[in-house]
Amino acid sequence: YDDRDGFIWMDGELVPWREANVHILTHALHYASSVFEGERCYSGKIFKSREHSARLLESGKLLDMPIPYSIDEIEAAKEATLKANNLSDAYVRVVAWRGAGDDMGVASSRNPVRMAVAVWEWGAYYGDAKWEGAKLDIAKWKRPSPETIPVDAKAAGLYMICTMSKHIAESKGCSDALFMDYRGYVAEATGANVFFVKDGEVHTPLPDSFLNGITRQTVIGMLAEMNIPVHERHIMPEELSSFTECFLTGTAAEVTPVAQIGDYMFEVGQLTRNVSDAYEKLVRS
Ligand code: PMP
Repeated sequence: YDDRDGFIWMDGELVPWREANVHILTHALHYASSVFEGERCYSGKIFKSREHSARLLESGKLLDMPIPYSIDEIEAAKEATLKANNLSDAYVRVVAWRGAGDDMGVASSRNPVRMAVAVWEWGAYYGDAKWEGAKLDIAKWKRPSPETIPVDAKAAGLYMICTMSKHIAESKGCSDALFMDYRGYVAEATGANVFFVKDGEVHTPLPDSFLNGITRQTVIGMLAEMNIPVHERHIMPEELSSFTECFLTGTAAEVTPVAQIGDYMFEVGQLTRNVSDAYEKLVRS
């Protein structure tokens, strides 16, 4: 991803893609002082753009690294980056981090908080699984307790176990991994939230140990409008056999059906199709 034409917004300026570099003593590189957003621009408009910017600022606050930009300034940076790269359908990555500076240890308050925006074309996150249903491995790592790490932040440090779990999943021919949480409840995938269907009703884990995704919240609102009951509750892995459909939600994943989790099988069913179609319509409306 580093060797491309185009422009990346960095600390207030658009710089040529290949020159968007940081120093090796960047605090974030050593201590994970980094928060980010993943967004999608559809037909020239970023879906839930301000919500993503607000979550970025909140993530920065949670990590004690206040981001020196307002929501409006972040919105303007994203617009400028899309325009500079001449893209109207794109994935948008905003990242903020503690840079290099006077501190080079665990503490970092004397180092600047920096921000960048990159945009690029990105198709279906799970490829053909979008139609056939994704196959998920069950991760051996657990989502940590909210007393261990700020689970509501979209922070780089929370993704270490995601990367490891996704590598194992891919080595087994799966698209992704499903996490249980520290109590053993079903939690989420490595970059998407999970929903289940039983008897025409929807069940989804309570987001008390993982990110309450913007797509998750959007889909819950859509289901209410479709008069489909949604139960947000703790779900045990033993219950997986009682569900007939399963799907993932996320900015990158959009609404992707799941065909298999470990040994449990699901149908790519009508309710999932309806939600997926309604979401596709909504993001372009
Ligand atoms: N959980 C994790 C771990 C994620 O990385 C994402 C993607 N940001 C989500 C859930 C879904 O969040 P959203 O719908 O806001 O993209």
